[in-house]
Amino acid sequence: MPRSWIAVATALASMSALADYPDKPVTIVVPFSAGGPTDKVARDLAEALRKPLGGTLIIDNVAGVGGTLGAAKVAKASPDGYTLLLHHIGLASATALYRSLPYKTLEDFEYLGMINEVPMTLIGRPTLPASNHAELAKWLEANKAGINLAHAGIGSASHLCGLMYQSAIKIDMTTVPYKGTAPAMNDLLGGQVDLMCDQTTNTTGQIEAGKVKAYAVMSPKRLTAPALAKVPTADESGLKGFNLSVWHGLYAPKGTPKAVVEKLNAALRSALKDADFHKRQEALGAVIIADARLAPAEHKKFVEAEIAKLTPVIKAAGQYAD
Ligand code: ASP
Repeated sequence: MPRSWIAVATALASMSALADYPDKPVTIVVPFSAGGPTDKVARDLAEALRKPLGGTLIIDNVAGVGGTLGAAKVAKASPDGYTLLLHHIGLASATALYRSLPYKTLEDFEYLGMINEVPMTLIGRPTLPASNHAELAKWLEANKAGINLAHAGIGSASHLCGLMYQSAIKIDMTTVPYKGTAPAMNDLLGGQVDLMCDQTTNTTGQIEAGKVKAYAVMSPKRLTAPALAKVPTADESGLKGFNLSVWHGLYAPKGTPKAVVEKLNAALRSALKDADFHKRQEALGAVIIADARLAPAEHKKFVEAEIAKLTPVIKAAGQYAD
């Protein structure tokens, strides 16, 4: 077939894909457990996407192996716009950390755009005998042999943050992997594990209710959400320059028709302006993206830069990885 015909056929196929899309439920795969911070972003976003996209959205929690199982499922799914991935910084940190992955981060996905940025908090079990970071540092030093640090699996955001924290205070901890920080939070509340780094979207309610010890927020400035304003920054807590913000983005399998990618990007832009979405997310410390990284190509460039930025950080913290 001559090349020009192929181009016409591709354009027609793309147009007809758009005319009907979506005519059945769209599944958003969340690569962590239900009830956790990534899941919360996905459920709020699905609500906000309902109108601009039209049709039903379903959340599918495909948790395990630090978010790589869910990402692999979407990389291998049919590229028809009916299976999407909502992932976070783990897309970059797992790429920097794993020797091999069951997907190619920069080649196997259509990047649909970035959603938000959420600072990390360092929290402890309610019974920890330390009420601020200086006391925590002393307690960690005195109890070096048996500290348990929970995280959402190797390569996850909480794992990355935990590695950076161990590296910053030069104490090796036993890391305990979960399928997400929702189940990890349950064990922290129950005192089975000592510490965890997690997004404010999961920790704000527990901090507000006084159910966990909050030691630091990993942002350059204090946060403004009422429950978080009293939590010192990592800098103020003696962890100089320790900032970690978890971004979330939306992805589709590579090969999804261009018109569908454009429709999803337009729906995402419109969902990010939704007043309820803003209200819910901002109350939990999230900042909604309103810059160039909303565009698929810019978001992809950003993820590429994040992989390059995190690779030496993870290498430097490597001695603390189990
Ligand atoms: N906060 C988790 C992480 O550390 C993921 C989750 O459960 O949403 O990556």
